[in-house]
Amino acid sequence: MSETVLILGGTKEAAELAARLVREHPGWRIITSLAGRTREPAPLAGETRIGGFGGPGGLAEYLATEGITRLIDATHPFARRISANAKLAACKAGIPLEIVTRPPWQKQAGDDWIEVGSLEEARDALPAGARTLLALGSQYIAVFATRTDIHFVVRMVDPPAKPPAKPLAGPLAGPLALPGHELVIGKPGSLEDEKALLAHHAITHIVCRNSGGAASYAKIEAARETGITVVMVQR
Ligand code: NAP
Repeated sequence: MSETVLILGGTKEAAELAARLVREHPGWRIITSLAGRTREPAPLAGETRIGGFGGPGGLAEYLATEGITRLIDATHPFARRISANAKLAACKAGIPLEIVTRPPWQKQAGDDWIEVGSLEEARDALPAGARTLLALGSQYIAVFATRTDIHFVVRMVDPPAKPPAKPLAGPLAGPLALPGHELVIGKPGSLEDEKALLAHHAITHIVCRNSGGAASYAKIEAARETGITVVMVQR
């Protein structure tokens, strides 16, 4: 029987799933939905739609209009709102919801982790004078602005849209609100790349969330090998 599948994506797992479903079920319609946060997302197998649905009601309407028969939530483990919306919308539309969640990273021998439950706890766990890599999305940076006793290196995938004359409200507020921070544009790299980045900036601490998966694990390995403390925001 032919299916129309909506994958809520934005992750490597979602892209791999779309590729597999397109390959294995050439007669199915496979749609991946992206929030639109990344300026130039990599091309995906099947169809792609971009942008929010307008809450659970909008998503339920989309499911009905497009005749979706299977909804798969393959979003990032910290993307909580869309996952909650997916549950409500699938229920309302009366279609099955499948959830694809990658397991969190587990602490290994040699890891020096401070495990915390929130970004605020992560901010408070950093010692004065730490040289800290914030490996977080730009929307999670603003909370660190009060730590003027720390040197921050902020890594972002996309550069800020334009340099502001003064601090802004909105999505650019995060990194730009950090006084004296350094901005590194780029995706997580290989183990050697991550070690080089940490050494170049004389990093003593990394703050990241326990996303799990292979794509951004090299920084954790690099920290382990070079004796750097990781402040890990757990799920
Ligand atoms: P979120 O807080 O759960 O979602 C905020 C809003 O963005 C949702 O209410 C929804 O808007 C829209 N949205 C989110 N994911 C969507 C999708 N796949 N398709 C269409 N609309 C979507 O999510 P977030 O943390 O901002 O993450 C946004 C996206 O980036 C997710 O798709 C996630 O997989 C990906 N991502 C997130 C992270 C992360 O650290 N959070 C990391 C890597 C990738 P409406 O209510 O208007 O529908």
